Amino acid sequence: MIEFKNVVKDYGNEVLGADHLTVKINQGEFVYVVGPSGAGKSTFIKLMYHEVGATSGEIRVNNYNVSSITNKEIPFLRRELGIVFQDFKLLPRLTIFENVAYALQVIEKKPEDVEKRVNEILAEVGLTEKAQSFPNEISGGEQQRVAIARAIANRPGILIADEPTGNLDPDTSEEIMRILEKINSDGTTVVMATHNSNMVNEHKHRVLEISAGKIIRDQEGGGYED
Ligand code: ADP
Ligand code: ADP
Repeated sequence: MIEFKNVVKDYGNEVLGADHLTVKINQGEFVYVVGPSGAGKSTFIKLMYHEVGATSGEIRVNNYNVSSITNKEIPFLRRELGIVFQDFKLLPRLTIFENVAYALQVIEKKPEDVEKRVNEILAEVGLTEKAQSFPNEISGGEQQRVAIARAIANRPGILIADEPTGNLDPDTSEEIMRILEKINSDGTTVVMATHNSNMVNEHKHRVLEISAGKIIRDQEGGGYED
């Protein structure tokens, strides 16, 4: 569960990054966050995992009060969230297997459990054959599938994706959408910031439209024109 109450983020610019955001996202929802560049989509998303701190207001993510979280608690909050970015952010010197395993090793899982889970998750995103490849040896769509595998390896309840199809062609974007919807159908909340109106219009889900830091539309099954 994600809940924002009157959340403000003031970067000191003319326009607030978040202007009194109040919204609730229940477990298992699929939510698009849409709006033009500079509207505040990334800010909304970064507030959830405390990449940016709120100026005022209250943010709750599962049992965490994110707006008053301590530095010690931040890594624990982030274990409950998988995060995927437009530019994949894979580690270039590690293989695909190692990129996914790394996320599990840092949370002190036994090596045999790590190996089993990595193989399982790579199969789920269709990348078993690429396990020993390096990121620069696979396509953008495959790299994004690795990033998704890494994000959900630890079975977080929430998957956050900031423009996950931003660098991908339409067919590959479609493939990524199907994977995100599959993850969502298993009960994981998906929050996806996007400009990709084709995806929003073809795969209907709740739409939160942001403009100048404000939610100007909250519509179940809504569309979007970029
Ligand atoms: P979007 O993701 O929709 O493109 P952002 O959340 O990145 O929008 O930006 C919202 C507003 O906040 C913009 O005016 C942007 O310039 C500003 N902003 C974002 N991050 C920072 C920052 N670190 N410092 C100052 N201003 C920022
Ligand atoms: P995107 O819109 O591609 O998601 P981001 O919003 O993540 O890009 O911006 C990239 C980086 O630049 C972030 O660290 C963000 O905080 C920072 N940033 C964005 N807008 C501004 C701004 N107006 N002033 C200073 N930093 C900014």
